[in-house]
Amino acid sequence: MTHDLVVANGTVVSPEQGRFEADVAADDGRISRIAAPGTLSSAGETVVDATDRHVLPGVVDPHVHHGLFRPLAEEADTESRSGLVGGVTTVGNIFRRGEPYAEVMDDYVAAAEENYRHDYFFTLGLLSDRHVAEIPDVVDEYGITSFKWYGNYKLQVAERFDLERNLLDDVADRFVRRLADLDGPTTLAYHAENAEITQRLSRDLREAGADGYEAIVEKFPGYAEAQAAVAGANLARQHGYDDDFYVVHVSSRRTASDIADLQSLGYGVTAETCTHYLALTCDECDQRMRINPPVRSQADQDALWCHLRDGTIDCVGTDHIANRRDEKVGEDIWDGRWGSPSSATMLPLVLSEGVHEDRISLERAAAVTSTNNAKAYDLYPRKGTVRVGSDADLAVVDLEETRTVTPDLLQSHADYTMYDGWTVTGWPTQTIVRGTLAFDRGDVVADPGHGTHVDRPLAGGST
Ligand SMILES: [Zn+2]
Repeated sequence: MTHDLVVANGTVVSPEQGRFEADVAADDGRISRIAAPGTLSSAGETVVDATDRHVLPGVVDPHVHHGLFRPLAEEADTESRSGLVGGVTTVGNIFRRGEPYAEVMDDYVAAAEENYRHDYFFTLGLLSDRHVAEIPDVVDEYGITSFKWYGNYKLQVAERFDLERNLLDDVADRFVRRLADLDGPTTLAYHAENAEITQRLSRDLREAGADGYEAIVEKFPGYAEAQAAVAGANLARQHGYDDDFYVVHVSSRRTASDIADLQSLGYGVTAETCTHYLALTCDECDQRMRINPPVRSQADQDALWCHLRDGTIDCVGTDHIANRRDEKVGEDIWDGRWGSPSSATMLPLVLSEGVHEDRISLERAAAVTSTNNAKAYDLYPRKGTVRVGSDADLAVVDLEETRTVTPDLLQSHADYTMYDGWTVTGWPTQTIVRGTLAFDRGDVVADPGHGTHVDRPLAGGST
């Protein structure tokens, strides 16, 4: 029997089953067979020889912002091209609009479907009571079950998005209750920031002439993240919301340790951190790393790795935003655009800084870059695992391959990277999206439009 594609002689890495040598076959986009190594190596229309390499579930980057500054039609194309270089097979694109989603989604969905090279799902920011009221329709019509609370915009949405009023806690209260009332699985992605504290500090620091990277670290202290995370978790518990209360981009040791305390008390909290908090410290940051929350100290970085290992933090994402350097970098640290591109370096940095530095195991790396993210967003077991019946989304990884990071290597629209000149060890040699070879030794071979939206809840339910 011939299979559409076979990945032969690799070592499969599965958070559920550990490591084992196998051939993996794909048909009609799904994994159809997992067999003894070498037994299927002549049975594929396309054969990827994975001898001496590891086969990981394709990276699920749960946190990207595509289409924020440029049209989604363009970003879906260029940023999925970049993602494939780093083994990404699915992204969660988080976006927000002031208008009702019923008015904007059709165009947005069409732009995505025609241009993504890998799979994707959406998380919608809820900025108003009207958005909250739209939740059931968004689930039914668009297969979107994840929503984001933008704590940082609390005092800004009226002006910034031309809305009647700001995003105060009464909206959060209704938002959480609405999600708790829904029958199906949902995810509440929560940006934890006490905006009253950060806005005041921001104003005071600017008036005092503070500049340099440390100014944006000081304006957003770790406790202003922790305080909001605890308050949000408390609201979720109050309303009996027992799906995924998911704190995005945890950056501080204070937040991570408070989340550990909440988890030990039985609060359901899922935590995500991003690769820049794991790979960088504020001492080495410049305007390229103008990200909210900011990159913090070595002590914060060390604590995040500990909590990633011990299970307090279960997910890694990137908060990827692609800009050109001249748009990104402003006159000083208060100027310029927030965010930085990083999907393509997500898995390589977790391998290089995590696995090779003995901070986490290879199985844990697969879990935090794929399996757990798929579970948190109800994509599992269609995504996030190497098993028969799941989508054949795979990253074939050479753990020993060392590369020097450059913007060219990463193939993003962005012409800079936070990791320029870094030596990183552990890169995908091939990326496979639903059984199709999408990236092959430096070349992105999947066309725009190969990717598709992952409708949720999954047919047949998720586990
Ligand atoms: Zn974000």
